[in-house]
Parts: sequence; C-alpha cells; structure tokens
Amino acid sequence: MGMYIDEVKKNLLALSEEKENFHKAVNEWKFIDSYLFKENNPDAFWPDDATSCALCFQWPINEVCLIENSKNENQLHIGNECVKKFLGDEIERQHRETIKQRKDTASYKKNKILFEKSDEFKELEILSGILSYGRRKDKLIAIKERVQIKGGPTKKQYASIHDIFQGWFGDAWKDILEYHTISKKTTNPRDKEFLNSLVRQKKSKQQLSPKQTAWFNGIKGRI
Ligand SMILES: [Zn+2]
Repeated sequence: MGMYIDEVKKNLLALSEEKENFHKAVNEWKFIDSYLFKENNPDAFWPDDATSCALCFQWPINEVCLIENSKNENQLHIGNECVKKFLGDEIERQHRETIKQRKDTASYKKNKILFEKSDEFKELEILSGILSYGRRKDKLIAIKERVQIKGGPTKKQYASIHDIFQGWFGDAWKDILEYHTISKKTTNPRDKEFLNSLVRQKKSKQQLSPKQTAWFNGIKGRI
C-alpha cells in the first residue's frame, strides 16, 4: 500500500508544475470528462486494447476519468481507485455523476438488454463454465465482464472467442461446448454427471468409447 501511494504521488508530481507539494499539485488538475471504455473505442474488446491508469498503471480500467492540468495542459486517464483516493471530492463527484449518466443512456441499456438475451451471451455463460481452473478462467471472466459491460461483442470479436477456445482445446472444443450446452438443458442429474465426465475426458484429449457415444446420443434424443 505504501509503495502504491508513493508511486502515485511521484507520477502526479512529475506531470504537474508543482514538484514538491502533492496537495498543491492535485489542485492544478481539473475534471474534463469521464467515459466508459468502449464508448471511445468502438472496436475495442480485448483487455489488450484497454486504457491503463496514468497514476498507478492499473489495467484495464473500464470507467475512465480524463483530467487536465490547468497550467501545462497535460491530460491523464485515471481509474476509479485513484480518482477516489487522490483527486479530491470535487473531481470524484463529477466522475461518478458522468459515469452514471453514461450508463443511463438509452443506447447503453438497450445494448446490454439485447446482449443478455442473445445466443452469444448464453454461449458465453456456458463457455465460462467450461473453464473451471487457473488462468484460463480469469481470462474468460475478463472477456465476459468486458462484453457484459460494453453491450456485446461484434461478430468479428465473437469469432475471436471461438479462436481462443480452438487454441486451447483444438477440435475437441466444439464437442466440449456441445456437452455443456446439453448439460444445461437436461434436468436428469445422472445425465448431467455423465456429460461433465465427457467434458473432462475431452479436455484430456481422450476419445469417447462406443458405449459413451451411444449414451450421449440417447441424451441428445431426449432433450
Ligand atoms: Zn490508478
């Protein structure tokens, strides 16, 4: 924590005219605007495209506050944490209000609702269930949060999700997706458990036995 504060102070002083007194330096900065990441980056989707906070380098930041120095006209993109902790009540208030307004816009809400009803969203829900461990899960959660916040991926971006899974599981991933999709639909606990075991098997790149294939086709026929 101490290091984080020192780092932020050092970075803000370096970009301000005042070089010694942090509070004086903060007073040089004024609120310009706040925005949700995707609004200014319609094609942005992957965390790689996201902005990082100019003070603590946190990345990605979704709710971005733009501030400007009144003396040297430097502009900085700042994340929520640093706005709250370092920029004072007035900038924080303006940031919060602006973000709230942005989220209240009809197009944002409409996109979000449409997306949550879409097949893509349902599939993402299922995909996130597939990855139940480690880094892969983190990466997928990041993608999922991003598309939820931003109102959904474009077709091209969505195709990239498929590419990721293809890279992770090879040709087996389409089967894995199918097992999960059917597992969500079936209410029989025994079938569910069987389908989950198929997923594990495919993840470790083992083929199904003829008996398993027959059982699977049976479940498929019943739903
Ligand atoms: Zn920060």
